[in-house]
Amino acid sequence: MEALLGKSLDELTQIVQDLGLPKFTGKQLAQWLYVKRATSFDQMTNISLKGRQLLEQNYCVGRTEPIAEAISTDGTKKYLFAVGDNQFVETVYIPDDDRATICVSTQAGCKMGCKFCMTGTLGFHGQLTATDIVNQIFSIPDSLSLTNVVYMGEGEPLDNLTGVLKSIEILTADYGCGWSPHRITVSSVGILPELQQFIEQSECHLAISLHNPIGIERQEIMPIEKRYSIQSVIDTIKHYDFSHQRRVSFEYIMFAGLNDTQRHATKLKNLLSGLHCRVNLIRYHSSPDSPFKTCSQEKMESFRDYLSANGITTTIRRSRGEDIQAACGMLVNSLKN
Ligand code: SF4
Repeated sequence: MEALLGKSLDELTQIVQDLGLPKFTGKQLAQWLYVKRATSFDQMTNISLKGRQLLEQNYCVGRTEPIAEAISTDGTKKYLFAVGDNQFVETVYIPDDDRATICVSTQAGCKMGCKFCMTGTLGFHGQLTATDIVNQIFSIPDSLSLTNVVYMGEGEPLDNLTGVLKSIEILTADYGCGWSPHRITVSSVGILPELQQFIEQSECHLAISLHNPIGIERQEIMPIEKRYSIQSVIDTIKHYDFSHQRRVSFEYIMFAGLNDTQRHATKLKNLLSGLHCRVNLIRYHSSPDSPFKTCSQEKMESFRDYLSANGITTTIRRSRGEDIQAACGMLVNSLKN
């Protein structure tokens, strides 16, 4: 049965009118779904009994609980959700001192095939709907304490722009959760037409997975480089204003010997020159069978210091949830087993 969670106010209004219910019931529904977070039609007590029965006969609310969870020693929690046609995705909850962030998935698996990413090895198994995305945010146990949402779980968000933009509408609209778009960050490897659309149609922060500033080397680990070079992605971003409240950041996983040299630091500085941005250096989580190796802390610090000294705000991101395979690039639905 079709779910109502994830539908916009316009869609909800159309649905109630098609059922012969008053137009204002659309607004009431949105309130119950997104503000009061109802999980059943019974709870929607200001909608007539007949209205609730009609809705129940034709639709479901769309809330589904996670089916498995794991808790890291550092407090990070990972959840497994069933989505679509017998598919699964993982969602990560990351509590910090003054913030609580959820990392949501946008696709089951991923098409992009980044060589260092375990999710990439899953292949692609389907798009998530706005229902699936909003449900991850609403149905984790710590949902009400969330301060931020990052679209950095399984999948390439801009390869599912429709689902992503719709879920963002629900999180930020007055009829929905009413969040500031600056509480939301969407990551991408840089799919150009969709990137432009995303920048123009939302106010959310943007995080680009960069990982190597040298095109010929980047394409060895990120096939997308062959289609849309990182240079063309940066050139596009430079057309937009990221110097005020809206932020663009660049994610840079550091691999020993591959992208951690002074040559890379200099190239990166040149590539980003003139752009108001920040760089997040991320430690790679090497496994025994991985061809990529973890970069030393000293190398990461000198890379950071060089960029910072050249005017690019650079931080080393603390790794979270490694022990439960919840860290960056580690989501492979291991909770299913
Ligand atoms: Fe897909 Fe992101 Fe992994 Fe690349 S890093 S394969 S885009 S999930």
